[in-house]
Amino acid sequence: MGISYVNIHTHNRIDPPVLGIQSFDIQEINHDFAFPRYSALGLHPWNLQSANLESSIKTIETHLLNPNIIAIGECGIDRCIQTPIELQIDAFIAQWGLAEQYQKIVIIHQVKAYADFLKIFKMASPGVPMIFHGFNGNLDILKKLSPHPIYFSFGADILNSKSKATKIISEIPIEKLLLETDVWQGDIETIYQAAANLRHCSTEDLKNSIFKNYKRIFK
Ligand SMILES: [Zn+2]
Repeated sequence: MGISYVNIHTHNRIDPPVLGIQSFDIQEINHDFAFPRYSALGLHPWNLQSANLESSIKTIETHLLNPNIIAIGECGIDRCIQTPIELQIDAFIAQWGLAEQYQKIVIIHQVKAYADFLKIFKMASPGVPMIFHGFNGNLDILKKLSPHPIYFSFGADILNSKSKATKIISEIPIEKLLLETDVWQGDIETIYQAAANLRHCSTEDLKNSIFKNYKRIFK
């Protein structure tokens, strides 16, 4: 059997032999929800305004006793929604705190907010690995984030030749690269093929490297 594809961030079900993490929002699950093996749980910035932050954080914490939840997220900062930025930062920092306490990975959602994250990480560098899903930053942002234990994940944006993601993916150090489908309905193999083309490598090499990254993150 060959090396598995890894889909690091999706909201859809993952079928073997593909490995990966299915993300759930605290608002879409109930108390005795049966999380699939390898789930992420968080409070998305889009759902912040209808949530009580304190009780949501407490609920996430109780679910962290479930060994199927291996990551927190997606959480983060979105500059294109109306929700006050202070509230978004508080929610992100609270979830990051849980991640440090329980040694979980963080899956980050960001829209036009790299400057906010750079400011936050200047005050304290993450101790746990963090994954910027749907990365679309430029070279300068990549350089500034690189000293931290941060991984960069790419999805269907790389199928669009004009996207920012397509422009930056070949600059990502291979040991920091991950791939995902997120809400896209296509399969992860398509994303691997596109990434391999853009990085001028074989899909097999990419599978090997990303599998190694996955194993390193979730050791
Ligand atoms: Zn997502």
